[in-house]
Amino acid sequence: MRTGQQRYRDYAGFSRAVFRERVQKLSIDGGFTCPNRDGTRGRDGCTFCNNRAFTPAYCRGERGITRQIEEGIRFFERKYRGQKYLAYFQPYSNTYASLEVIAARFEEALKHPRVAGLVIATRPDTVTGEVLDYLEGIARDRHVCVELGVESLQEAVLERVNRGHGVAVAERVAGECARRGLFVCVHLILGLPGESRGEMIDGVARVSRWPIHLLKLHQLQVIRGTRMADEYRERPGAFSLYSLEGYLDLVVEAIERARPDLYLERLVNQTPAAYLVAPRWGVKNFEFAAMLERRLEERDTWQGKFYNEITISN
Ligand code: SF4
Repeated sequence: MRTGQQRYRDYAGFSRAVFRERVQKLSIDGGFTCPNRDGTRGRDGCTFCNNRAFTPAYCRGERGITRQIEEGIRFFERKYRGQKYLAYFQPYSNTYASLEVIAARFEEALKHPRVAGLVIATRPDTVTGEVLDYLEGIARDRHVCVELGVESLQEAVLERVNRGHGVAVAERVAGECARRGLFVCVHLILGLPGESRGEMIDGVARVSRWPIHLLKLHQLQVIRGTRMADEYRERPGAFSLYSLEGYLDLVVEAIERARPDLYLERLVNQTPAAYLVAPRWGVKNFEFAAMLERRLEERDTWQGKFYNEITISN
């Protein structure tokens, strides 16, 4: 690898490749719910989930979609004037409603003159054929990315965190989205209870073989107000939460196994201190990125270096 060459592909690179300029994702609460909370799949939700922990202040469903977009733009314009935005339907399952409701919400966002497209976070088991047909139609002239919460490729781990769906549906829906011309992002959590280091790395290698464009990874964080926070209080020994150093090493290994042309949208997450139980690293995302860059350089390694090596270790 040549000195100064980027060692992994990040979201800025994705923006440049697709839009030829910087685009900003703007979180929107579209007022959706989740089948793992309303009783359809379950009532308690995934054990790690507290949607409030990652929702910015301007993003509140009761404010309506256009107002959230306006407030979000006002917030970001202080730093980047005139940039484009993607309406990021983030909390809960944003394909879980009647098609009429889904279409009305997405189309309100797309009508805004500063919105270049949609990013739709959702559970794979709520992406029906009807929703796919609809999104395929929009994607003929607008940017549409479906962000699938997959979290782990281990069925036992998904069961343990009460996910309420398995791996097969996620793989099938990722393939369907890609076949219909949608961008696809997969989200995985590294460090869920019951998942070994080798299984996590294997998970990255396996999703890299799905027809996806983006991969989002982050460390497991125990968040206040979740079932996992109760479990952690009762049995902390059942968790192996990563230290910052240990997580950097894990991410390096994950990057080495990732498909070389994937964009790694995010590799870490920092939940606001008011919500975070553990681990508390106290680093900002840009500081983590600089540390990671240094570690990749020290090891003279890069994205996809071992993509073709098939090994599963524990
Ligand atoms: S993580 Fe997503 S699927 Fe799980 S309970 Fe929360 S909103 Fe529902």
